[in-house]
Amino acid sequence: MTTPVLHPQQGAPAPEPERTPTATAPARARSGGLIALIAGSGGFVVLVIALVFLVVTPRALVVPPIPDEAVAAAAEGAAPGEALFGELNAALESQDREAFFARVSGDAVAPLTLWWDNMEQLGWTSAAMSGDEYDVPWSDGSVEVPVVLGASLAFAAFAPRGSGGDDAGKHFVQGFRYVASVDVVDEVATITGWRTDGPKAAWDFEPLYVARGEHVLIAGRQSEQALVDSLVAEADEAAAWVLDDAEAQGRDLPLDGFNVFATDDQSIFDTWFVDEATAGWQMEAAAYAVPTTRPESWTEGMDTTIATGDSTSTSVVFLGPSAMEQLDGTLPHEFEHVMHYTAVPSSWSDPPRVTVEGWATYQENRRLYDGAYAPADSQAILELSWCYDNMSSSGIADLAPEQFYVEDAFCYYQFGASMFAYLDSLGVDAWDVADAAKFDGVDPLTAAAAQGADVSEAAWQAWVDQQTAGVVAVRY
Ligand SMILES: [Zn+2]
Repeated sequence: MTTPVLHPQQGAPAPEPERTPTATAPARARSGGLIALIAGSGGFVVLVIALVFLVVTPRALVVPPIPDEAVAAAAEGAAPGEALFGELNAALESQDREAFFARVSGDAVAPLTLWWDNMEQLGWTSAAMSGDEYDVPWSDGSVEVPVVLGASLAFAAFAPRGSGGDDAGKHFVQGFRYVASVDVVDEVATITGWRTDGPKAAWDFEPLYVARGEHVLIAGRQSEQALVDSLVAEADEAAAWVLDDAEAQGRDLPLDGFNVFATDDQSIFDTWFVDEATAGWQMEAAAYAVPTTRPESWTEGMDTTIATGDSTSTSVVFLGPSAMEQLDGTLPHEFEHVMHYTAVPSSWSDPPRVTVEGWATYQENRRLYDGAYAPADSQAILELSWCYDNMSSSGIADLAPEQFYVEDAFCYYQFGASMFAYLDSLGVDAWDVADAAKFDGVDPLTAAAAQGADVSEAAWQAWVDQQTAGVVAVRY
């Protein structure tokens, strides 16, 4: 599949993402080129922008035929693969390290010990490993088995009973994909090798240092303890705002806090959670929310209350060096992505950036401007004005949501935000529209129209025109 790539400095247009089962990690603009926007009042403000999308493609769910001998063995409850997964999952659920490592040997010991130690630091409450038990041979031999291993971290999501949907009553583990090498000797299966399959999570690199607030967990390298500690108070404040705001809007809270990974080292930021070499695209972000993976299906020994399937699980937030200069906007922006992705997990729909980034930016603006979308003299209005003036030159099509994959891509952050503000001005429930637009994979105006709201692209543009009247924005 193609992955959308966009580098504003290079002016490279990004292709539309395909409608494939993708999980998108929404990013926040990184300090790229400097842009100053001059307001009509004569004041000027420096705006830093750039952006990126991160697309993670889950492996296609393939269910191989089950060998007859395995079926027979399963009937006796004695298949080596069943016994292996059964014991591993029981050990993960009860956090019994000794029982888990009784089934692990050789080269798998070191990476799984690192994983286990880091999960303890990250406050795990349960865990699971999914895979196909019947990949494991009945007779002596070796095989590689793709698995998803994940734990419920300190602030994992939950879906209350009665909340509706397939996930009601379930809890979520934050999984990543791995490949286990499994050896069978005398009908006993053991994991003897372990490697990541795709991007490596922060917890797969080195022992982590963790600090906690009331609504956040901040994790980082042990050599960056001071950075981790310094982020707790501000992140906690941003998290509380996001959660309180959602509650005030009458929303069901899918979680009560956020797991944040942070580094001030660009080389670390370029490797944790993201594998550019494999992904084939380049990263230019200040921060992003990374959707994690669910166990694909119930596997022997797994707690039945763990949500499974090909939708995403709870996202984690990852902050890099560029984020540190703009935490007041970045933190709520990323937390809103986590809320959005948790309320409406991704599977087959890949919503337009104007929906995903627009919603996070709308909420970010509301936090920055004390609950208002954007005051007349605000940075948001300056940006919106510049985008409006410069992207309408070729006519109305330039402002159409599908045209937002262009070099001035920061504009769809503000255009998207303005769509939600426009809807709010009409009395339309912007939250409902954000969720529906993500679920249906459409832009906010289309989603609102589908709900019966009297909206149009022309009316939205007229609203933007009104908001930006008298503002002259200049970029240099
Ligand atoms: Zn974003």
